[in-house]
Amino acid sequence: MSRTNIDNLIANTIREDVRSGHGYTVPDSSGYIKLDAMENPYQLPEPLRAELAQRLADAVLNRYPLASYSTLKAKIRTTLGVPAGYDVILGNGSDEIISILCMACSRQDKRAVVMAPTPAFVMFQRSAQFAGMDYVGVPLKSDFSLDLPAMLAAIAKHKPSLVFLAYPNNPTGNLYDEADMVAIIDALGEDGIVVADEAYHPFARTSFMDKLPQYPNLVVMRTLSKLGLAGIRLGYMSAAPALLDQFDKVRPPYNVNVLTQVAAEFALDHVDVLDEQAARLNEARTELAAAMAALPGVTVFPSSANFITVRVPDADKTCAKLFAERVLIKNLSRMHELLANCIRVTVSTPEENSVFLNALKASLQA
Ligand SMILES: *Cc1c(COP(=O)(O)O)cnc(C)c1O
Repeated sequence: MSRTNIDNLIANTIREDVRSGHGYTVPDSSGYIKLDAMENPYQLPEPLRAELAQRLADAVLNRYPLASYSTLKAKIRTTLGVPAGYDVILGNGSDEIISILCMACSRQDKRAVVMAPTPAFVMFQRSAQFAGMDYVGVPLKSDFSLDLPAMLAAIAKHKPSLVFLAYPNNPTGNLYDEADMVAIIDALGEDGIVVADEAYHPFARTSFMDKLPQYPNLVVMRTLSKLGLAGIRLGYMSAAPALLDQFDKVRPPYNVNVLTQVAAEFALDHVDVLDEQAARLNEARTELAAAMAALPGVTVFPSSANFITVRVPDADKTCAKLFAERVLIKNLSRMHELLANCIRVTVSTPEENSVFLNALKASLQA
């Protein structure tokens, strides 16, 4: 028998912050109405799925993907509004893009800083930590708008290499003021990079993409996940070519698999179908927000994404009631002090939205 004690092995090899931390937990959702992860409830229509199945059957699985990903990148550039002369880098979800950005900016001579207004998307902090960087969160104002003076002061003090601005923000749903974002990009200049995380672009329909030529320190990052393809895991970013070349050195060579590549190319050929689904969800969001705003004690925050963040009198009670009715939403209460008694619900089909709404109503009754 080996004399190796596994606990000693772990203590001797695995970093302390990993040993003492937790993984990213995702609850088992089988049998539940899943309104906690901003997924598009609609699949591709049946005829398109049959056509996709044929394309996937023809995919060359015994070979590595073509490392240049030239066809898929070209489709992204032309379909999704990347400026002329600008390219994209692909990632296994934008989660991988975030980690590529952090890896490229973490350094050996000193601890580099990642900054984001908070509450923010949790992967900004996690990726920064795992890349060995310091993370500085700057609280938003209570209406979830950017606190520009606080951001500028924190930038002057901490000199971040990377500032993540989710546009619109998750978990709050709002778009930051464009002039505030530009002020942050200008303040960083050649000392730091601003990443506009446009995961919800299909719903917000506004973007910093066309500003790339004006701002060499701007990166625009997006994903196909919220558009309706969360399962294939495809994210991308664009930036000034010389900067993008640096990030590409850090990217694992075959990080996007052949099946994803085929499915994404197919989906982008039919992007009008996905855009139509997003438009339908935007209409449903307006209706759901109005219905919730009419409920006693509920505060609805403005959203430009496919989810709505609301404050209820007792978030734990509401989430428990919804869970009992087999509806999963996200309890934001303990994530940040600005989110006391806040919950986040993904906008879904009319049927699922109404199950949610009825359970929400029931949870508000004494
Ligand atoms: C969902 C989300 C992502 C992650 O997207 P993937 O491409 O699925 O990894 C990134 N940023 C924000 C703000 C998100 O809400």
